This record gives sequence, structure tokens and C-alpha cells, in this order.
Amino acid sequence: MNILERYAAMEYDAAPEARNEADAWLAGRDFGKALFIGGEWKAAAGGKTFETSEPATGKLLAKISDAGDADIDAAVAAAAKALPKWSAQSGYARAKVLYAIGRAMQRHQRLFAALESIDNGKPIRESRDIDVPLAIRHFIHHAGWAQSLDKEFPDHKPVGVVGQIIPWNFPLLMLAWKIAPALAAGCTVVLKPAEYTPLTAILFAEICERAGVPKGVVNIVPGGPDAGAAIVNHPGVQKIAFTGSSEVGKIIRKATAGSGKKLSLELGGKSAFIVFEDADLDSAVEGLVDGIWFNQGQVCCAGSRLLVQEGISDAFIAKVKTRMGRLRVGSPLDKNTDIGPLVDKTQLDRVSGLVAEGAKQGAECWQPDCPLPSAGYFYLPTLATGVSPANILAQEEVFGPVLAAMTFRSTEEAIELANNTRYGLAASVWSENINLALHAAPQIKAGVIWVNGTNMFDAACGFGGYRESGFGREGGREGMFEYLAAKLPLGSVIKPATIDRVTERAETDGIGIDRTAKLFIGGKQVRPDGNYSLAIADRKGKLAGEVGLGSRKDIRDAVSAARGAKAWAEATGYNRSQVLYFLAENLAARADEFAARLVQLTGATAKAAREEVELSIERLFSFAGMADKFEGRVHAPPARAVTLALHEPVGVIGIVAPDEAPLLGLISLAAPALAMGNTVVAVPSQKHALLATDLYQVIEYSDVPGGAINIVTGKHAELAAVLAKHDDVDGLWCVADADTCKLVEAESIGNLKRVWTSGGKNVDWSSDLVAGDAFLRRAVEVKNVWVPYGD
Ligand code: NAD
Repeated sequence: MNILERYAAMEYDAAPEARNEADAWLAGRDFGKALFIGGEWKAAAGGKTFETSEPATGKLLAKISDAGDADIDAAVAAAAKALPKWSAQSGYARAKVLYAIGRAMQRHQRLFAALESIDNGKPIRESRDIDVPLAIRHFIHHAGWAQSLDKEFPDHKPVGVVGQIIPWNFPLLMLAWKIAPALAAGCTVVLKPAEYTPLTAILFAEICERAGVPKGVVNIVPGGPDAGAAIVNHPGVQKIAFTGSSEVGKIIRKATAGSGKKLSLELGGKSAFIVFEDADLDSAVEGLVDGIWFNQGQVCCAGSRLLVQEGISDAFIAKVKTRMGRLRVGSPLDKNTDIGPLVDKTQLDRVSGLVAEGAKQGAECWQPDCPLPSAGYFYLPTLATGVSPANILAQEEVFGPVLAAMTFRSTEEAIELANNTRYGLAASVWSENINLALHAAPQIKAGVIWVNGTNMFDAACGFGGYRESGFGREGGREGMFEYLAAKLPLGSVIKPATIDRVTERAETDGIGIDRTAKLFIGGKQVRPDGNYSLAIADRKGKLAGEVGLGSRKDIRDAVSAARGAKAWAEATGYNRSQVLYFLAENLAARADEFAARLVQLTGATAKAAREEVELSIERLFSFAGMADKFEGRVHAPPARAVTLALHEPVGVIGIVAPDEAPLLGLISLAAPALAMGNTVVAVPSQKHALLATDLYQVIEYSDVPGGAINIVTGKHAELAAVLAKHDDVDGLWCVADADTCKLVEAESIGNLKRVWTSGGKNVDWSSDLVAGDAFLRRAVEVKNVWVPYGD
């Protein structure tokens, strides 16, 4: 065969990567002492080990120390010991360490790549050209954040000792995403690699030794789920950063409830790959290869659901099949390999099981006619067509090289299908019409959208999900916040709310007309579903009035009204700011009345009550002003692309407002949520609920669209729990007693809503720190939209 014929046939010879350096490293290490704790290499206290083997052959690679509880204790103690000095060091000093790590990794880049491919099975082309360079970039990028920390993140401090748990699909990259921002923020870490892929984390610990990372700042503890759970439950850990399955993410959310631990969860996905009929089909096919067959589809943001416009579906699927026939399945160390083995036999069984089930449910599963290596955990690239939206292959994260294809007719249908999932990690949108692509991107509920591209990542651009894909971001400015604690002015401990049993009416200067305080749902005053009332006492314990006793059904109605108030999220920031200004104006017009009510209910002095009202008006004014200013950013990653980091509303936010400063507290929480386009279901102060019911008329006069803000009075703990369990509530902010705060965190796992609690404490609502960005940041999701450019 001459060279032209060879070119035409697209035949390649094997091009193996040398593995001698990696084998020498494997042979030269004592993996029985693989725990890196306090700068020392240790065996597991209990002497246990676990095996890691090579997915391409099934052969044993090493027996690795398996961290137990005592080892996790030791690692947390080492991290705690190192914390004061490391966090007090200058940003410059920390930046030099991060830079040194990046450079040392660069010097051992090839060893990292070979080792990663041997341990995980990913093609060397990917580990060499993507995983390892991106990991290095992460450290070098974060050196800059370390140095500029005080300037860029005023009023924040390092969160403390961080426990980090990562999966097996990007062992080194996930480690970098975790460790780099933590060190930059001044935290110390205990990181547990996944049990299938511990090797590059061990090599990384060696790099830390060489790069002069102070002892105890980075601790690496290989082990399995038990070691992970020991980290999660350790009282000496102040933050958990977890990447892995949604199932385990939910366990961790529950386990950390009420502990005060900060939490970020990067979980699974079922990302849509949308091809419009005006797309460049050949480019889209190449994108798809990258989208679903990169790393054998074992990618959290894999474009595993192909949505293709009906008119081009046949032509596109034919092209995809032709291309699939050319994918090379084989040794991960061959530089020509497109698809390596799955990580383990269990993963192979899971993927084949899901495909069999998908076929049983009506999908037509096609695989190219291509030889598979005789050993190892290989699985052929698979295309499932005729997939109904309810098919297991359209709903479950397969985490393998399996593409589920569906068709759509209109843009609306494409978006509906794309959002028909409990996940929300990423999506690709293919169209030569940039207007169409940028029209679709904001409507897709996902943290990352790639326009005419896929799987683009960078240290400067945040990555993370919506919905059950978790919360928190990795990378960029937003990723740094995950390792910083805001200095919120917390105050006294909140006692559980009690019911005032009052019947004796307070004396008034004459009999006015009786007023019935109802609930405020969908822009209307409505009676509580149960038709019960709650007595509200004045400062002397006499009956000041009665409010509706809201129930589960009322919360459901309020959530559905909030969900339906789409006009608010879609309104411009300028529109929203005018409504909030108008609210401030109308509250100011009734300032005397509100101040008197505060005195009557809370016993505040006239001066203090007046101050609370004035501050409430000022707060509304201030968030009105931010409605069109707390905007996203544009990043310039090292690629021919811009990344638009858009601020989008979280969605429906539940608010449980405090008894202390009942007006200012409620407004300080509701105003930033509304300013950013969220709709709100508020449970106001239980004790002084009449104050909130007085607000209804102010809201009614202020052009607030129906459903944008809903108020349900009643028993705090009960209504907070209903909000926490409601899967159509996207975020929940709760200022209540410790038990209620714990409960709402634990009950939020259904849809993994974004929960913030005051941890059982009051907040000083008069502080400038509350008026700043702290709640605006909680009120938005950052969506990164990648837009490549160039011909
Ligand atoms: P997994 O959840 O089973 O395990 C992840 C890690 O958690 C491992 O280190 C494991 O030992 C540990 N672990 C398991 N049970 C634990 C427990 N009860 N407490 C504490 N730790 C525990 O996930 P996996 O199979 O290793 O990885 C695949 C999953 O990771 C997929 O769902 C994938 O989508 C997700 N993932 C997400 C991202 C992202 O950024 N969103 C990136 C990569 C992978």
C-alpha cells in the first residue's frame, strides 16, 4: 500500500507510547506506604490495602494502603496543624508554592499522562493533551488568585481544613480542580482519590514534596467509600468538596446537615447535544465524537443525549454511523486509539446492563463492526435510536460510550427535551446561526453551554451544575468562593419558635373595622387552605391580631404561583430595579405605620423601630440599584473562544425569615432574591407575622407581578420543612433555630436545592456585609456559555 492509498484507507500502524518510565515508577515504590500525611509516607494504621489494576488488561498494578478512620484522623490533624501558618502566609508565598507545583508537574508531564492512561484506561492522546495540561494550568492560574486574594475577596477568610473526595474518571484533573483553589484560598486539604485510580494522586504527593509544599498542607489518603465517609463525618473538617455520583452526593448532603460544613457537590449529568438543521453537520459529527466518546463516555458532562432536528436526522445519523465505524478501539497507550477500556469490570457490566434494558424498552441499539481486544474491559461505541424520552437510556447517566438519539421539530421542543432531565450539568448547541444558539443557551437549565463545541474547560471558567448535577462551581472567581468563608455578622442563638396562646385582645383607642390577615399567593390575598388562624401577640402578650395558618397545600400553591411568574425572571434588570424602587417608595409612604407596628409587636423603642423601617427602605433601594449591575463576566480562555459567565436567577427561592428585626430581615433576604430575577415564597417571622401581612398592600401598589413574591404565614419549622422537601423550590434561605436549619438541609436532597442557613443564629441585618454581594451571589447561578470564533 503506498502512502496515498494508506491515507485514503485511513489505516494507521500502532503508535505505542513508551511505558517504561511508568513501569519503573510502579516497580520502585512501596505502595504499602501510600498514605501521604503530614508530609510523611505511611502505611494504613490497620494494615489494610486495596488493589488497583490495569483496565486494558485486568492485570494487577499495585496494592495500595487503604486509609481507615485512624488514618483520616491523622490526616485531618496534620491539616489542622498546618492551617494557621499556611493561611497566615502572604498570598505571594502561597502563589510561589502553587506555581512550583505547576512547574514540577510540567517537568513530569509525560509520566503523569502514561500513568493516568495505565490506571484509568483513557487514551494517551487525552491524558497527554487534555487532562495533564489542564491540571497544570489549574495550578498556575490559581497562583494568581492566591496572590490577589485580599484585594479580590475582601471580607472573606479561608474556610479551614477541607475534605476532598474525587471520582475515577479524571483522577489528576479532578485533584487539580480541588487542590489548586483550596491552597490559593489558604485552606489545607485532605484528599481521597477514587479506589480505582489512586496512582496519579500518589505521584502528585511526590510533586508536593519536590515543590516545597509545607508539611500537612496537602494530605493524600487513598481508600474507598468508608474513607470518604470518615472524611465527610469528621468534626475537624470545615468544608467538603465532592465530585462523584448524585447518589453519593445526596448521602453527603444529608450527613453534613446541621454540621456547619460548607459543601460543594459536582455530580452526574445527562447532557443534551442539540443539532439544529442549519448546523455544520460535519463539524457537529466531530463534536459528537468528542462529546460522547471522549474518555469512553465516562464523563460527567458527556453529550449523551443527541437531539437532532427532524429534517436532517437521517442524514446526520448516517454520518454519525460512518464516523463511528472509523473509531479505533484499543490499547489506551496507542496514540491512535480513540476509545480505550472502561475503568473496571463493574462499569462494563453496568453499561451493558443499561443498554440491554434500553433495548428492552424499545431503543434500537447499533454498534459498528469493529474488533475488540481480547482482554480488558472494552465496550463498543453504541448508538441508540428510536429512544423515547422516558427510556432508561434517555434518563439514566450511563457513564459509558452510549449515545441516545432523539429528534425534535421546533426550537421550543428541543429546549423542552433538553430540560427533560433531573440533571443540569452541560449542553452543546450546534447552529450556524449565532442568534439561535444564544437564544437557546439561556433557556437550557445547565451550568455550562458549549456553542458549536463540546467539552471545553479552563481554569478561568467556572464549571458546575444546576439541579441534581450539584451545586458550587470549580474554576474561576466563582470557584474561589467555594473555599472562602464570608464574614457574615452572626448574632445570638435562635430559640425554637413557640406558639403564643393569647386570646385577650389588646386595648385600642376605639373599635376599628376588623381586619383578616390572609396569605399572599399569586398576587392575591387568599384564605389559608385549612381555614385555621394563628394568634399573634403584641409586646405585652395580648392579642394583636390573627394571621392565616399556612399549610403544606398553601406552600404548594405559593410555589406553583412562583414557578408560573415567568415574566419576573424574563424582565430586564432595569424593569426589576424600577419595581423594587417603587416598593421602597411605597414603604416609605407608610413608614410611620410600620414603625408603630414594630413597636406594638416587638417592644422596640420608637427610635429603633423607625431605624429598622428606614434601613428596610434603604435596603430595598440598594438592591433595586444592583438589579441591573450585579452582572456576569466575559472570560478569555486560552482557546479561540470567549466564555460568557452569565448570572441567571436560581429560580424559586424559599425564604424563612427571622423574628429578630422582622421587617429588615425579611426585606434583606427577599430583595436580593427578587433583584436577580428569582421568585420568592417567604415564610415571615412566626412571632410577628402581622408585620408581613401589612406588606401585602405595599406589594400590591408597587407593580410587582403576581406570583413574584408570595407570603405564607404560619409555623416556621413546619413550613420550612415543606419548602425543603418541595422539588420545585430551587433554593432555600433559612434563618431559624438550629434544629430547623439542620432539618431543611437534610430534607433538601430530593432535588439538591441550594440551601443557605444561618446555622441557628441571628444575623445583624444592619451590617453593610448583608447589604453587599453576599446574598446577590446566592441569588444567581453562574452559567458559562462558550462561544468559539474564527472561520
Ligand atoms: P461515586 O460517587 O461512586 O464515587 C466518587 C468518590 O466518592 C469515590 O472516591 C468514592 O470512594 C467516594 N465515595 C463513595 N461512597 C461514599 C460515601 N458514602 N461517602 C463519601 N465518599 C464516598 O462516583 P464514581 O463512580 O467514582 O464517579 C462517577 C460519577 O462522578 C458520575 O456520576 C459522574 O458524573 C460524576 N462526576 C462528576 C463530575 C462533575 O464535575 N460534575 C466530574 C467527574 C465525575
